[in-house]
Amino acid sequence: MSEALDVNAPSPKSKLMLTDFNTCRTLGTGSFGRVHLVQSKYNNKFYAMKVLKKSEVVRLKQVEHTNNEKNILEQVNHTFLINLWGTFQDCSNLYMIMDYVVGGELFTVLRKTQRFPDHVAKFYAAEVILAFEYLHSKDMIYRDLKPENLLLDNTGHIKLTDFGFAKHVPDITWTLCGTPDYLAPEIIQSKGYGKAVDWYSLGVLIFEMLAGYPPFYDEDHMKLYEKILAGRIKYPSFFDGMAKDLLKRLLTSDLSKRYGNLKGGSADIKNHGWFRGVDWERLARREVTAPYIPHFSGEGDTSNFDIYPEEREPYGTPCNDLHRDKFPDF
Ligand code: AMP
Repeated sequence: MSEALDVNAPSPKSKLMLTDFNTCRTLGTGSFGRVHLVQSKYNNKFYAMKVLKKSEVVRLKQVEHTNNEKNILEQVNHTFLINLWGTFQDCSNLYMIMDYVVGGELFTVLRKTQRFPDHVAKFYAAEVILAFEYLHSKDMIYRDLKPENLLLDNTGHIKLTDFGFAKHVPDITWTLCGTPDYLAPEIIQSKGYGKAVDWYSLGVLIFEMLAGYPPFYDEDHMKLYEKILAGRIKYPSFFDGMAKDLLKRLLTSDLSKRYGNLKGGSADIKNHGWFRGVDWERLARREVTAPYIPHFSGEGDTSNFDIYPEEREPYGTPCNDLHRDKFPDF
């Protein structure tokens, strides 16, 4: 959570409440809840409020993941990661108040332009690398990289969101989670795995940004997993030779060869020829101009987000709280 003192922001010390905010439209949906634009009644600023239905979190066996998400977001503070201001719960839902990121998902920009030129893909990949370096330095793995989880702020820089699968992992873990297209072979094979899965997913992201589609695709998840394990990738002829070389080193199932997982760590990726010319220090200070600056008319503009149906149970309706004990930290 950010330590920066912002007099206009809700105080992180006092517990926030649903009645502190006016709830506006839906920005996105997940499997057990949705994310709303909200406006603080105290400072009139806009925030994103993620609402998770406790009964769904329990039914889908995501209690531990949800508690991980909150705990990890509270421990991180990095310019390319979403900032969490506070959490609270009522009898039916968990609520997380985050910065509102006005530019929408990288996914939307990618689908509109179909694919990115080399320098654009390089910019987003490089910012993701800095975000992963930071998380890994804290022994956290992210596990859910995809263009839907990369939001663009008002200056076009990335904010990684959705830490629902992030975990503090000092050595290895075993859980099968993530998004099928982006799963590393070692996760599919139920082997113990670690930080290297994030570097594999970086390879999938770079491929998808350059090609406009992911390296492996099948509607049938089992067939998709077979393709990932077989690891045969067709690189489009328009791919830059350097990009292809880096992708081969990221998208390998051989952990003793995968870049990011070798003696040199993330420096092997940053020093690869495809990233030649990237000034990593300036990038970390947000001094590199983003390739695409989102359009927006004001702080609470939601035009960069898709429209979602708004029918839902009203939040804050009294009920019997059956799951209070499962979320002690919220
Ligand atoms: P999540 O369940 O965290 O993956 O969020 C679902 C969707 O809600 C995301 O893909 C975004 O479109 C949107 N969203 C999540 N967090 C934010 C945020 N802090 N600001 C703006 N939109 C967000």
